[in-house]
Amino acid sequence: IKEGESSLIILVLKTLCWEIAQQALNGSLLYNYFICNVGAGEQDNWLRTTFIQRHPTATRVFVEMRFVVRDCNSFGADSLTCKETFNLHTSEADADIGTSFRKGQFRKVATIAPDEISGVGDMQINTETRVVDNLSRKGFYLAFQDIGACVAIYSVRVYYKTCPATVKSLAAFPETVAGGENQALREVAGACVENAVSEDQPRIYCTVDGEWVVPVGQCQCRPGYEPKNDSCQECKPGFFKTSVSNEACEHCPKNTEPSSSGALSCPCLQGFYRAPNDPLTAACSGLPSAPQNLAATTAQMAVGKLQLSWSPPADTGGRTDITYNVVCDRCEGSVCQPCGEKVRYDPSNTDLKEISVIISELEPHLNYTFTVEARNGVSQLILHCASQHSYSLITDPPKVTAMHLVESSPTSLSLSWSVSRWAKPSSTRYELMYRKKVITTYTVLVLEKNSVQIIDLSPSTVYLFKVQALSPEGNPGSYSMEQEFSTPAEGKSVILGAAVGGGVMLFIVVVVLLLRRRRKNSHTRQGPEDAYFSSPEQLKPLKTYVDPHTYEDPNTAVLKFASEIHPTHVSKQKVIGVGEFGEVYRGILKAPGRKEAAVAIKTLKPGYTEKQRQDFLSEASIMGQFCHQNIIRLEGVVTKFKHVMIVTEYMENGALDKYLRDHDGEMSSFQLVGMLRGIAAGMKYLSDMSYVHRDLAARNILVNSKLECKVSDFGLSRVLEDDPEGTYTTSGGKIPIRWTAPEAIAYRKFTSASDVWSFGIVMWEVMAFGERPYWDMSNHEVMKAINEAFRLPAPMDCPSAVYQLMLQCWLQDRSKRPRFQDIVSLLDKLLKSPDSLKAIADFDPRVSIRLPSTSGSDGSPFRSVSEWLESIKMSQYSENFSMAGIVSMEQVLQMKSEDIRNIGVRLPGHLKRIAYSILGLKDQTSTLSVFAV
Ligand code: AMP
Repeated sequence: IKEGESSLIILVLKTLCWEIAQQALNGSLLYNYFICNVGAGEQDNWLRTTFIQRHPTATRVFVEMRFVVRDCNSFGADSLTCKETFNLHTSEADADIGTSFRKGQFRKVATIAPDEISGVGDMQINTETRVVDNLSRKGFYLAFQDIGACVAIYSVRVYYKTCPATVKSLAAFPETVAGGENQALREVAGACVENAVSEDQPRIYCTVDGEWVVPVGQCQCRPGYEPKNDSCQECKPGFFKTSVSNEACEHCPKNTEPSSSGALSCPCLQGFYRAPNDPLTAACSGLPSAPQNLAATTAQMAVGKLQLSWSPPADTGGRTDITYNVVCDRCEGSVCQPCGEKVRYDPSNTDLKEISVIISELEPHLNYTFTVEARNGVSQLILHCASQHSYSLITDPPKVTAMHLVESSPTSLSLSWSVSRWAKPSSTRYELMYRKKVITTYTVLVLEKNSVQIIDLSPSTVYLFKVQALSPEGNPGSYSMEQEFSTPAEGKSVILGAAVGGGVMLFIVVVVLLLRRRRKNSHTRQGPEDAYFSSPEQLKPLKTYVDPHTYEDPNTAVLKFASEIHPTHVSKQKVIGVGEFGEVYRGILKAPGRKEAAVAIKTLKPGYTEKQRQDFLSEASIMGQFCHQNIIRLEGVVTKFKHVMIVTEYMENGALDKYLRDHDGEMSSFQLVGMLRGIAAGMKYLSDMSYVHRDLAARNILVNSKLECKVSDFGLSRVLEDDPEGTYTTSGGKIPIRWTAPEAIAYRKFTSASDVWSFGIVMWEVMAFGERPYWDMSNHEVMKAINEAFRLPAPMDCPSAVYQLMLQCWLQDRSKRPRFQDIVSLLDKLLKSPDSLKAIADFDPRVSIRLPSTSGSDGSPFRSVSEWLESIKMSQYSENFSMAGIVSMEQVLQMKSEDIRNIGVRLPGHLKRIAYSILGLKDQTSTLSVFAV
C-alpha cells in the first residue's frame, strides 16, 4: 500500500515455532507473533508474510515493524545463548507460491535491533523501518528470522512513497510513485492547466522521499486570463489582458468601452482610436481639435512672402504626435483652386512639427485661403472629418494706411491716401465714408483711385473721413482710422500737397446709418490690424462648402474630400433600397486598424457613362466635406475599381417618413421635437458652410437605432432628378413643390432661407407622423393655396410653440424667416422645459386628417366603416369595430371616447385620431379655408 494509506496485511502463512499470542498493552488487547526460545541452543525460527503484490512502479518499499524484545539479562543463567535482535528477509516472486517455503530464496534485508529492551512487566514497543529496494518482480514476501531472542512482533506496515498530484507554476503533474536507489529522481512531464500555455513541456522531479523538486518550464495564462489559485481565470468585466503572461488583468484604459469578461482588449469608444503602432494597453485617442490663433504676418518679409503661425490645438486628442498640414487655395469669386507647386513652404507644408511656416512666391493681391489642419497618430485612421480641424484664412484687399489732406477750399476737400505695399492700386477700388462731425449719417463714395476731391461742403466745418479698399469682388477691407479734416472759412484755400488726381467717383451712393449692419458675407470679414490678412481674433473656424464642379476634373474633388476604400474591406449583406444610380446595400466595413462598422453601400449600376460616374460620386465629394452628428457620414468611396461605391454610416431605421408612418402615434411630442432639433442642428451646420440642400424632406432624413436623425441625399442637379417628388417646372428644373419655398419655385432662388421653408414642412411631416403635406391636393392646388396665403394647419396634438415655428418658416418674405441657428435655439429651449410643449395648437380634424373628411374620395359620404377607417389610415381597427357590432356610420357617429377605447383602441394617438375624425364627421362644414393664416 501507499504510504499514509491504512490496510491490514494478514501476516503469516508459514510460522516456524513463532506463536500467536494475545497481550494487554496500555489497556488494549493486542495480538502479536511471539517467540522466546532462549537458552535452548541455536535457533532459526521464521515467520513469513503472505505474498505482497507490488505496485508496478514501486521498486522501493518501506517496512515498518513494531515489536518488543526482552532483555536477555532478565533470563539469568538461561541467557547464555540469548539474543536481542532478529533479521528481516525478503524474497521476490512473480506469483504466490503458497505455503512452500525455502530459506534459500530469501535475502537478508537487515538485522533489527530494538532501541529499548523490555524487562519483566515492562513492555517497551519499538518501531523500526527498513527499506527494501530494487524490487522488480510482481510481488514479494517478507520474513522475520529469529535466532534466539525473546521477541514479539505487533505490527508490520509495508508501504511505498509517492509524490502527490500537484499543480506547480500552472502545470499539473500526476501522482507519481517515488523511485528507488537506482532512480533517485524520477522525471515527470506535466501539462499546463486549462487556458495556460508554455513553449516547452513543463517537467519536475519526484525524489525517493516523495517530494517534488526542480520544476522546469513555466506555463502562462492565455490572453484574457490571469493566474489565480493555480488556475487561469477569465479577466473580470472592465479588465483585459492582451498577451500570454502571468500578469494580472489590467483595467480598461481611458476612452474605451468597458469590456466583457475574458477580454483580450477594450474596444475604443466611438470617436476614439488607436494608431497602428499603439499597443492595445494604451488609451484610445481622439482627433486633435483645430489649431488655435491662426495668424499671418508680413512684417519684415519680402514681397510675396508671409509667415503663417498658430498655436497647438487645445485638445491634442490625448496624444503627443501632433503634426500640421497647410493647404493653400487661390480663390477667384467662388471658384477656388489649389495654389499648386509655385507656392513655396519653408520648412514644408505637410507633416510639420513646427507651429509656423514661411510661405513664399505668393502673387500679390489675390485671395488666398490657407487651411491649417492638426493631425495626430490616429488621423490617418479616420476616413472623414479631418478637414474639420482647419481654419480658413482669407486674404484681404489691401489696407489703407495714411490719409492726407492735399488741398482744401471752403466748399471742398482733396484727400489722398496710400495703401499697403501689396496692393496694385490700379485694380483696387475704395469706399470712402465721411460725415460732418456733428451729424451721425455718413455719405459713402466708391472710388477707383486713391484720391478724391469732395465738393459741395460747408465752409468752416469739421468732417470725419475713413476709407477702405475693396477687393475686385467688392468685398471690403478694413477701414482706416477715422480722420478729421476741416474746410477753411469762406475766402480761404490751402494747397498742402501734390496734385490730386481728381478721384473718379464711380457711384455716389448710399447714405447709411452709423449703425451699419455688418456685411452679410461672413467669410470675407476681416480685421483692422494686419496689412494683408485677417487678424486672428476675427478668424472663425469657418469652412465653406466647395462645389465639386469648381474642380476642372471632378475626380480630383472626390480624391480631395473622400477616402478611397479597398473593395476587399467592404462586404455587402442585403439590399435595403434603390437609388437613382443603383442598389443600396447594408454591409460591413472592416478597414485595417479600425473597428468593424455597419455601413450603407451605394452602388453604381454597370454600364454607366463617365458623366453618370461623376454625378454619382459628386454626392461623396459633397458629403465628404461635412462632419456633423446630424449629417450622414461618409466612410469613403471605391473609385479605383470597376464597381464604384459610396460607403456611408448605416442608419438602422431607414428613411424618417416611413419610420414615422410605421410608428404612428407611438412617440411623444418631446421625442418628435428631439428629432426635429437634430435635423435643425444638421441644417444649421450646412447653412454655416453655405451649403443649400434644396431637397430637405422627411424622406431624405435617415434615422439610426438611437433615433438620431441625419440629413442625407446630397448631390448637385441630380438631387432633384433622383427625387420622385421632383416636378418639372416651366424653367425646366425639377422641384419638389410641396417642400419648396415660393421664391425657389418662382425664380429658383434657393437659399438657406428656402431650406428653412422646407424644414417647416419637415416639422409638419414629423408632427403628423409622416402624413403627406397637403394630402391629396395637386401640386397646382398647393401652389395656388400658398400664393393665397394658406398654410398647412397644425397637425393633431402639435404643441402650439412648434406650430408657431412652422408658420414662421413659411413666411412669404424669406428675410423674415428664422435662421437655422434661431430654430435650433428655440427647439433647445422647448426641450429644456417640456412644459412648454403642453399647450396644444388648435387642431381641426376636418382638415388635418383628410380633406375632405366628411366624405369619401368622390365627395359622397362614407359608405362603410372600413372605408372611413381607411380614409383616416386606421384600417387596422376594422375588425375591432365589426367585432363590437359597429357596422354602420350612424353607429360610429354615436361613439364616445370611452367606446373607442373599449373596442380595443389603446394607443393614445390612434384613439385621438379616431375620436377627432368622428367629431369632424359630425360637423359637416369642412373647407380648405380653415387653414388660411
Ligand atoms: P438614396 O439613394 O440615398 O435615396 O437611398 C435609397 C434608400 O436606401 C433610402 O431611402 C434608404 O431607405 C436607404 N438608405 C440609403 N442610405 C442609407 C443609410 N446610410 N442607412 C440606411 N439606409 C439607407
